[in-house]
Amino acid sequence: MSRILLVHTGGTIGMTRTENGYQPDGAYFRQAVFHMDSLKARGMPEWDFMETEKLLDSSRMSVAEWNLIGRLISDHYSEYDGFVILHGTDTMAYTASALSFMLKNLRKPVILTGSQIPLCETRSDGRDNLITSMIIAGSGKVREVCIYFGGLLLRGNRATKYSADGMQAFVSPNYPQLASAGISIQYNETAFLHTRGTDFSFVPLSNVPIGVIKVFPGIRFDLFEPILTENMKGIVLEAFGSGNIPDNTDILLPLLEKARKNNIILTVCSQCPQATVDTGAYAAGSALRQAGAVSGRDMTTEAAVAKLYYLFSVYEDIERIKFNMERDIRGELTQKEDI
Ligand code: ASP
Repeated sequence: MSRILLVHTGGTIGMTRTENGYQPDGAYFRQAVFHMDSLKARGMPEWDFMETEKLLDSSRMSVAEWNLIGRLISDHYSEYDGFVILHGTDTMAYTASALSFMLKNLRKPVILTGSQIPLCETRSDGRDNLITSMIIAGSGKVREVCIYFGGLLLRGNRATKYSADGMQAFVSPNYPQLASAGISIQYNETAFLHTRGTDFSFVPLSNVPIGVIKVFPGIRFDLFEPILTENMKGIVLEAFGSGNIPDNTDILLPLLEKARKNNIILTVCSQCPQATVDTGAYAAGSALRQAGAVSGRDMTTEAAVAKLYYLFSVYEDIERIKFNMERDIRGELTQKEDI
């Protein structure tokens, strides 16, 4: 029988009502989990329960908390066959992406889940999300960082939060789902990640200064000039369509040049959830390519942000970071030659 470590980090699933709205409630959630008969039913994996020191609304998660969660998994890696991490939905895709990079040569399931309605409420979706995540982790079939939510198992670094009120809160627009849970759980094994390396290791992330800029019609690029200093390490630029930006302004080229001189890595992602960036496709985007911007291909913004943190934590050489931004390192993007 497999053994799973269930970790509560906060989020709606474990919240109860207060005068100021829902808030994490560790004591309530602990007793609710220990009284859930389905978690002790025959066929379920054995499990232990832990909670992080501070239970957070996931809007408060930062690199420090990602490191704590990653460290916790790493410290207990050899004792368990899998991990289920209960987390708020708002930044779950960021945490899942970050963990996918931090947990190098991972060969065990790490499933993040949570709920849209707290477990304390009658219509909560938390019960099924928790139980099915435990079953999936216990089966040991998928061995990567995933999000299970509303009947779908998705690769963590391909997922993005799509709905703030629907029970199917996450989608994976550029990569097939890893499993779907109906009457039975149907695994899509051809989509699973196969790690080649053997030695598991945990790579903590450095909180390097990075930014995300979303392009819009009429954007005043000049207003961003003051942030393009050598303190800034990377920017994820959410461009239009397949990587276009308005290039009809005289201001843009000197700005891109300033970013290049200051070794800022500009990574171009798309505002279209379903897209592959090709900055060379239109003249309007080629200024980016000429300025040394890298293509985020079909990466989510969440994955691009986490990957910048990761690459800056492991490499110093800018060219090496740029090269790896466009390479598939944890199944987070489709490389050009893979198409
Ligand atoms: N604000 C909550 C959080 O992300 C939302 C949720 O869990 O669904 O922690």
